[in-house]
Amino acid sequence: MSADAKLIPSATQTAGPFFHFGLLRPEWADLTHGGKAQGEKISLEGRVTDGDGAPLPDAIVEIWQANAAGRYIHKSDQHNAPLDPNFTGRGQTFTDSEGRYRFITIRPGEYPWSNHYNAWRPAHIHFSVFGPAFATRLVTQMYFPGDPLLEYDPVFNCTADERARRRLISIFDWETTVPAEALGYRFDIILSGREGTPMENWR
Ligand code: FE
Repeated sequence: MSADAKLIPSATQTAGPFFHFGLLRPEWADLTHGGKAQGEKISLEGRVTDGDGAPLPDAIVEIWQANAAGRYIHKSDQHNAPLDPNFTGRGQTFTDSEGRYRFITIRPGEYPWSNHYNAWRPAHIHFSVFGPAFATRLVTQMYFPGDPLLEYDPVFNCTADERARRRLISIFDWETTVPAEALGYRFDIILSGREGTPMENWR
């Protein structure tokens, strides 16, 4: 090739990866393994959007949580509560073209921890969102409405602003409640802006 030959740029690649193509299985969104897990079954739905309300499609949404008795499958969890052989406490799904996700799971139990005397975490579900538009996972915790432990929880109260804190509490939702099967809870995740969902990895 002569020195003055023009360099032709390589074709640009479409941004990826595309999580819904084969990376995740639909059954991973059902933490009850078809209803075998112990506890109160719930349906958990929401939308992931940016600060302008635009949906975030094809993002991986992961959750992890304690079982109905308030116990994690983890060797450092020494809570004197039973493990459930039909509940691993982990789920994964991805958002659709409108940013929606849905899990079937059980309502997690409250659990004691060693932060201070007689310390108990309110019922909560850990969330992580990982999308093509950002380079790191965003991690947060979702709570349940009316939980009496919320006002005592140092983790929940880490978010100083009361309105922002309220965005961490799911909303009971008749629309997604499945008759005779599961109460519905809605938890929308807003990734940025003034109405953003507080994240654990926000600086
Ligand atoms: Fe936890």
